[in-house]
Amino acid sequence: MSETQHGAAEHDHGHDHGDHGHAPPQPDDKVHSYYQILGQALKELLIEKGIVTADEVREAIEKRDSITPARGARIVARAWTDPIYKALLMRDANQAAADMGAPTPNTHLVAVENTDAVHNVIVCTLCSCYPRELLGLPPSWYKSRQYRARIVREPRAVLREFGTDLSDEVEIRVHDSTADIRYLVVPLQPKGTEAMSADELESLITRDSMIGVAEVKAPT
Ligand code: FE
Repeated sequence: MSETQHGAAEHDHGHDHGDHGHAPPQPDDKVHSYYQILGQALKELLIEKGIVTADEVREAIEKRDSITPARGARIVARAWTDPIYKALLMRDANQAAADMGAPTPNTHLVAVENTDAVHNVIVCTLCSCYPRELLGLPPSWYKSRQYRARIVREPRAVLREFGTDLSDEVEIRVHDSTADIRYLVVPLQPKGTEAMSADELESLITRDSMIGVAEVKAPT
């Protein structure tokens, strides 16, 4: 699947995830983009030809929408507490994710580990590729042109805007995701949490820390 096709299929399925607030209902007068119309036409054709049913499409969207960053947090918490699992995660992240009930069949998953010397952060400079099977849908800022351009050019400044102030000694590595490769950041385990169980640690691990724009903080 090319990036363009992926963009149409994944990003424009006529279901705006950013607007689930409680604003008064508005008339549906949104102007659809070229790819939204293309995606809709493709969906209608596939249904008309009997290749998929409308219910299967709905079910796939429902399933996708139900994934939360808790999946990624379980994987990271286990890696922090189980060195054998961590070795597997770093060697074969697809297998490690599958072992935790989060299969990632369509992409090569790569785990990148933060250390005292290296901080990793992920982006998709082209569109919004993201480890959706582990973190759910990407936040709107991740998809923004601003983030996609600036995190590559001035990562330290962007991280500071997220409240992540890294020392100049720390090397920042920016990983550009593609249709084929997705990254999961394994954040640094905060000091003072060594005695905590994986279940307890899990609740500390946030979505943004697995994207790499934030660090995990010890409970106060
Ligand atoms: Fe993308």
